[in-house]
Amino acid sequence: MENPWSKEIDEIFKELNTGLQGLSGEDVRKRLERVGRNKLREIKGVTALQIFIEQWKNLFVILLLIASFIEIGMGIYHIEDEGIYDLLGGFLIVIIVLFIVILGFYQEYNAEKSLQALKKMLSPMTIVIRGGETKQIPAENLVPGDIVIIEAGDRIPADGRLIETSDLKVDESALTGESMPIGKNVKTLNGNVRIGDRTNMVFMGTSATYGRGSAVITATGMNTELGKIAREVQTIEREQTPLQRKMDDLGKKVSIAVVFVCFIIFLSLVLTNLDKLDTNLLLNMFIIAVALAVAAVPEALPGVVTIGLSLGTRRLVEKNALIRKLPAVETLGSTTIICSDKTGTLTKNEMTVRRIYFNGRIIEVTGEGYEPEGKFKGDYKEEDLKFLLEIGLLCNNSSMYREDGRWRIVGDPTEGSLVVVAGKCKLDKKDLENRYSRKKEIPFTSERKMMTTIHKKGDSYIAYTKGAPDIVIRKCDRIWIESRIEKLDENKRKTILEMNRKFGQEALRILALAYKPLGNTNLENNSNEEIEKNLIFVGLVGIIDPPRKEVKVAVEKCKGAGIRTIMITGDHKVTARAIAGELGMYRDGDEILTGADLEKITDDELKHRVDRISIYARVSPLHKLKIIKALKEKGEIVAMTGDGVNDAPALKKADIGIAMGITGTDVTKESADMILMDDNFASIVAAVEEGRGVYENIKKYFAYLISGNIGEVGIILLSIVIAPWIIHHLINNSIEIPLALSAIQILLINLVTDGLPAIALSWDPFEPNAMKRKPRDPDEPIYAGLKPFLLWYPVIMVIVMFIMYLSVFIETQDVFLTQTCVFLSIALFEVGQAFACRSTRYSSFHVGILKNKKLVFTVLISFIIIVGLVYAPNMEFHLFEKEIGLKELFHFSAPSLYLLLVILVTSSLGFIYLELHKYLWPRED
Ligand code: ATP
Repeated sequence: MENPWSKEIDEIFKELNTGLQGLSGEDVRKRLERVGRNKLREIKGVTALQIFIEQWKNLFVILLLIASFIEIGMGIYHIEDEGIYDLLGGFLIVIIVLFIVILGFYQEYNAEKSLQALKKMLSPMTIVIRGGETKQIPAENLVPGDIVIIEAGDRIPADGRLIETSDLKVDESALTGESMPIGKNVKTLNGNVRIGDRTNMVFMGTSATYGRGSAVITATGMNTELGKIAREVQTIEREQTPLQRKMDDLGKKVSIAVVFVCFIIFLSLVLTNLDKLDTNLLLNMFIIAVALAVAAVPEALPGVVTIGLSLGTRRLVEKNALIRKLPAVETLGSTTIICSDKTGTLTKNEMTVRRIYFNGRIIEVTGEGYEPEGKFKGDYKEEDLKFLLEIGLLCNNSSMYREDGRWRIVGDPTEGSLVVVAGKCKLDKKDLENRYSRKKEIPFTSERKMMTTIHKKGDSYIAYTKGAPDIVIRKCDRIWIESRIEKLDENKRKTILEMNRKFGQEALRILALAYKPLGNTNLENNSNEEIEKNLIFVGLVGIIDPPRKEVKVAVEKCKGAGIRTIMITGDHKVTARAIAGELGMYRDGDEILTGADLEKITDDELKHRVDRISIYARVSPLHKLKIIKALKEKGEIVAMTGDGVNDAPALKKADIGIAMGITGTDVTKESADMILMDDNFASIVAAVEEGRGVYENIKKYFAYLISGNIGEVGIILLSIVIAPWIIHHLINNSIEIPLALSAIQILLINLVTDGLPAIALSWDPFEPNAMKRKPRDPDEPIYAGLKPFLLWYPVIMVIVMFIMYLSVFIETQDVFLTQTCVFLSIALFEVGQAFACRSTRYSSFHVGILKNKKLVFTVLISFIIIVGLVYAPNMEFHLFEKEIGLKELFHFSAPSLYLLLVILVTSSLGFIYLELHKYLWPRED
């Protein structure tokens, strides 16, 4: 639509063929077909091809391939004599390297896929009026002509012309760079106005920070202003996590060490063979050194963390926690404090009015849930009750509708409960609003804790207010009793506050209702303070919001896990304490601090008391920042929840900002690290448990990968540096000393035993007791507590293999047999290690050694491949008129059964050592 800001609303309605009642379902369907979904064209994520190409950027892989191609070339050149083995050997290396690359690709691709899937889940919702009904729909289903409701905290879903506003302010910095929120109204503008000055329009990608409004959608998807500059708004941030950075760093250090050792190996090989050195031999030595580098450089290490974390995010989705930033998974594991909102997170947010206090008497209300059926028990006059309920109904932005035989609420459940209780007295919101049309709203904010609307009743105006009793009562100077208006003296004030406390002790959430006739005052000239002054108090409503049952268990779990839970609520101290008590979050002797107290004490004082405070009541979002600051200064890792628009700064400041998926505003969701899809505290605890598990799994993987590599490099180094010296002393000086493994064997080990079981380990079921330990120190290095795995295991492995190597070679002087025995030995050591890594803390038998079916399966496959290759009959084939034995190619020679048994027994020594160590000294830190 052309320049909607310069057109009258009726004109726009006509042009878009719509109206205040919104579009019909059929109309929407047709429009969707015509203009498409309301989303920006996707900026493509990393493609499979890009990931595949990325795998080839490894210097050693390239070097190895170049060397292999040279070997193939030389093989072809010498094909007449032994060149054929070079040719095939080179070829085999290329194939194995290809497999290694594919395996790496598979892992990364998987990680990438789960990130993409997450992105899809972040799609926002919006409230529309269609066919006269207010409902919530995915924002991508919006079409031009739709009428949308905008509230503080909402992300504006598409471009629209405002129809009605009530103190609406919009942060348009994403679009215009202007950092101050812009006040909006409905006045038609003239001519060609810059985006930043189109005060009667709202734009996709910006967000409402205050007030309310409604708008008719004029452009969607790529036709919006944001679409025009085609910027992507919904992205998962891909920052590196601290653990990834640490791994990257560690990986680099290990790589340098490996490359250095490989260089020494190459140099030693050259020096010991100086007399018979030719290009062919030099190339072979180079290939061995580089193959070892390919096998032992842990280039996968940072990737492993990504995989572990992104697998974690997938499992977290099943636990109702949506991760927006990958580092959150990691930080979750070291969380020491969870600060949680009360309403909706610790409680069910199924608000039902239970008590009403007015005319000096209490009335009980019956009925369950949102069903507008129930009775009022007590001494009251119907018209008095109706007067009170009307205040709650008019000063209200939520509504009720019936779907699939059930009553549902759109909007804030606190307000919803007032619509329901009015329904129990046969009062209808729409009907009332038609009679008393709303002229203005002073919105509810968590800071103000109250709300006022102004309505026109005949010729005069009237203000209706509801809010936290302690706040509202300060603004009242009169009281309504049985249709009379009396002065609100100190005694009456005390009685009301006493009643407020009594309701609070029963864990009720309380609202005070008040009103003020404004006569026919011109509203424009009245300031908000003026309107909300000298009010007439009418009554209190007590709303139950039952605590979630599962929270009590979760709080208990936190205690065992060394995590402190703190309630931060806007509700009254007494209500907060009653609920915290029920949930086990508050014990006698704990301190409660209110927002007012918080304002009085200094940061330093708070820091000293913060350990003892378990409830912060009547706080505003800004107070949360002060609390986080004090906790962080104490060295705590803080997870904090938030839902309102003003919670965003606190969520950003927390180590883990958690937004509510159901009640949370778009703005908080966008500044959060994690979104709770069910708003449930118990899901936070489940997420912490997952975070701890993920970290442990990364540790297992690390232990497995590094110890195997150390063993491989170690045995080859020994066979070059020490073996000649021993063998020449023991047998004779002229015998040629073989390497412990051939280049192909090195790569084969890397592919078969390192690759597959390692992937299976990253899927490993978690170790038990994760929530019975203290939180992990975030600065703890990944190798903490892994000495048996990273030091003693490789030492045992290298010693056992070296003895095996020496004895077989000295006994038989058969190079292939010696290498085969070392090869089998390494393979079996790695198998043992894979099972031992099922737990780095407890005996693997204790955690169920065969529990990871994927591991059992991959180990079995690896084992079959290896033993199959070694023991299969030597297949021979003819190539270039030469007879080629497959085993000669791999350097395999099948050991006798006796020798195999010896290998089996000696190779299990490492496993036995680790299991014994873990059994005797399980790690509980
Ligand atoms: P939290 O979710 O942080 O635990 P809360 O939801 O109880 O806290 P707020 O929503 O800030 O906190 O509400 C604070 C107080 O404001 C409530 O105790 C209630 O008395 C009052 N209140 C809540 N909702 C409304 C509303 N829609 N209109 C007027 N007053 C309200």
